Amino acid sequence: SVEVGIVGLPNVGKSTLFNALTAAKAEAQNYPFCTIEPNVGAVPVPDDRLTTLAKFIKTEKIIPAMVQVVDIAGLVRGASTGEGLGNKFLSHIREVDAILHVVRCFTLADVVHVDGGVDPLRDIDTIETELMLADLGSLEGMLERTRKQAKGDKELLPKIALMEKCLEALQAGKPVRGLSFDDEQRKVVKTFGLITAKKVLYVANVDESDVSGTGPLATKVRERAASEGSGVVPVCSKLEAELNELAPDERKEMLESLGMKEPALSTLAREAYRLLGLQSYYTAGPKEIRAWTIPIGCTAPQAAGVIHSDFEKGFIRAEVYRVDDLVEHRTEAAIRAAGKLRVEGKTYVFQDADVAHFLFNV
Ligand code: GDP
Repeated sequence: SVEVGIVGLPNVGKSTLFNALTAAKAEAQNYPFCTIEPNVGAVPVPDDRLTTLAKFIKTEKIIPAMVQVVDIAGLVRGASTGEGLGNKFLSHIREVDAILHVVRCFTLADVVHVDGGVDPLRDIDTIETELMLADLGSLEGMLERTRKQAKGDKELLPKIALMEKCLEALQAGKPVRGLSFDDEQRKVVKTFGLITAKKVLYVANVDESDVSGTGPLATKVRERAASEGSGVVPVCSKLEAELNELAPDERKEMLESLGMKEPALSTLAREAYRLLGLQSYYTAGPKEIRAWTIPIGCTAPQAAGVIHSDFEKGFIRAEVYRVDDLVEHRTEAAIRAAGKLRVEGKTYVFQDADVAHFLFNV
């Protein structure tokens, strides 16, 4: 599943956010894949289609798609030079699919800010600088090694050119995610494991009085995010932690009194999904109805591979219908009778809201 890693300066609310996530996880304890490590929280991606499917197909469990959030302690100024927890942090952060950058936008006077006053843009730059320095360090080493190898292997030259392009950007103080690449190049760049090549979702950690994030501090973060193609979600971490301790009906009441449609953590999961170009398809049967996460453009065997790698290798065909078909015809048998159960082969590109049964060799 999708994994995002939390970064941010000290005292901006990372632990508070993470605790809220972990409380959300307790509720999701039925999901086998959520019990991993103490530093991993999971947020279900809100999805009405699961409820729709469950209306027509009797099932034991409903399993939503999840965004996993990894709390990676220890990014402080100087992390890129390997001070303190720096190295461990860097090796963890290279693994994640996207960066969740928590930025302090709450003004509460009794919480001391490491750099004095509250200034979200300064904070973003501080963290970004550390991440770029870390990338510079690893890229310089990589480039040197690859140049040596290239003496006997000219096929490495395009890779070197890409490394040089990234290096140039970093030296100019620009993150790699701002560069443009074609699909093939992007795949190669991904193998470099650069942190600033990853997409960023900012969490503007706002005061209780600004849950909509329309205040001046959150607005600055939103403008910054827009200028670089990143996402942003206003979250009052403190409030989210409190929300997660409430019973569902109390939670609903509190959300309404705050003028919120859903917990900000749900918005966050959905936004991470959108930012990464992900969508869901479903499997539905008496044991479980489940959402599976796939990238847009994923073929049928690749979609099957998300369930199990053997399914991809042994893929024969898929029977596919749309959630809306079920709403219209009410049973799978009726969908089949109406000729709407499609048989799709290896080249079929899965669409959002497809429901599938796979046939495969083992
Ligand atoms: P970390 O160092 O980034 O993990 O920050 P913490 O989560 O420990 O938060 C630092 C302080 O800020 C704590 O005293 C929190 O209670 C407070 N804090 C965190 N999030 C919020 C928030 O959304 N609103 C307010 N008012 N205070 C917050």
